[in-house]
Amino acid sequence: MRPAAVEVHGVRKWYGAHRVLDGVELTVSPGEVTVILGPSGSGKSTLLRVINHLEKPEVGYVSVNGELIGVRRHDRRLKELSERVILGQRSRIGFVFQNFNLFPHLTALDNVAAAPVATGKLTKPEAQELARELLGRVGLADKVGAYPRQLSGGQQQRVAIARALALRPGVILFDEPTSALDPELVGEVLAVIKDLATSGTTLIIVTHEIGFAREVADQVVFLDEGRIVEQGPPSEVLDHPKHERTRDFLSKVL
Ligand code: ADP
Ligand code: MG
Repeated sequence: MRPAAVEVHGVRKWYGAHRVLDGVELTVSPGEVTVILGPSGSGKSTLLRVINHLEKPEVGYVSVNGELIGVRRHDRRLKELSERVILGQRSRIGFVFQNFNLFPHLTALDNVAAAPVATGKLTKPEAQELARELLGRVGLADKVGAYPRQLSGGQQQRVAIARALALRPGVILFDEPTSALDPELVGEVLAVIKDLATSGTTLIIVTHEIGFAREVADQVVFLDEGRIVEQGPPSEVLDHPKHERTRDFLSKVL
C-alpha cells in the first residue's frame, strides 16, 4: 500500500499555557487536495507549520510519505531517529505564504532558481533552465528578468508558487495564498493552484475561498480552537455541515 502523503497523528501544540492544536488527526493521500477552513486564531497556520516542521508538536507526530518528521519531545530515541530524516523531508515540502516572501534583490528567475542551487540539487544553469520552465507554467514567461517590486501581487504570488515547485516537492502547503491580494488578482493565482490540483500534486491549502474549495478540494477540514470539528468531501462539509460552528463560520465567509 502506498503511504499517506501526509499523516498527522494526535498532534497537540501549546504556546505557553495556550493550547493551539488539540489532538489533530489528518490523513492526506497522494495527489489529494485538502482545504483547511476555520476562524482566525483556530490554529490553521500552526498546523501547516507543524506539518512543515517549522514547529514541533508537544504530543503526537507527523509523517510525510511514510517517514516520521515530528515526534514527542520526551522520547529521545524517536527524536534522534526523526532528526535524521527531517532534512530530507523539508525539501520535499513546498510552502507558499500569504505575503509571498520573495527575495526583493533577486529577479523572478533567480528567486525560483535559488533553492535548487543552494541545496546542491542543480547547477546554476540547470536551475535557471528549470526556473524558466516553471515561470512559463505559471504564465510569467515574459517576467523572468523582473524584480518583485516590478510585479503585481498576483504575479509575485505566482513566482512564489514556481519557487515552491522548483524543489519538486511531494506536497505543497499554501497559507492563505490570496488573502493579501486585491480582489481582481485573486483569480489568476487560484487558476495556477487549480492547475496544480488537476495535475495530481498533493496540496494542503488554507483559504477562505469557499467556491474554490468546492471546485478543487477532495476533502475539506474545518478547524476550530485547535480541533478538527468536521471533515469530509466539500459536498458534505460545505453544503451540508453537521455542526453549528461550521454553519456559523460558513454563513460569515460566504
Ligand atoms: P490561524 O492561522 O488559524 O489564524 P494560528 O495558527 O496563526 O491561527 O494561531 C493560533 C493561535 O496561536 C492564536 O491564538 C495565535 O495568537 C497563537 N500563536 C500563533 N503563533 C504563536 C507564537 N509563535 N507564539 C505564541 N502564540 C502564537
Ligand atoms: Mg493563519
